[in-house]
Amino acid sequence: MKETLFDAILRGEIPCKKVYEDDATLAFHDIAPQAPVHVLVIPKTRIQNVGEADDSHGEALGRVLLAARNVAQLLGIQKTGFRIVLNNGKDGGQTVDYLHAHVLGGRALDWPPG
Ligand code: 5GP
Repeated sequence: MKETLFDAILRGEIPCKKVYEDDATLAFHDIAPQAPVHVLVIPKTRIQNVGEADDSHGEALGRVLLAARNVAQLLGIQKTGFRIVLNNGKDGGQTVDYLHAHVLGGRALDWPPG
């Protein structure tokens, strides 16, 4: 897997506005927020995207969702509602080839996406 921006963020070489971190995940504010709350959660295990994940990644993928829940709690959107998005590949709109969950909230979100 090719080196990505999020590898460098994980190593601390590129700064980020950290929201949450544990042994398996790092969560930080998106640089171009699309909602009042827009946080990215990445696993510390390198996975390109869900489509490229294998069965050994089950724990890491689950921990991303639990970290997204923690982010929602920390930023006060757990009760009002939020959306978790994992863009996958070209047609899915993925621009950074390191698995990341977008946690979006703080306003009513449109559905379906365009
Ligand atoms: P994707 O389009 O791959 O699902 O999402 C990539 C996300 O990374 C985008 O929402 C974009 O705004 C965000 N992003 C791109 N460069 C940076 C950066 O340097 N720092 C942060 N915090 N987010 C970034």
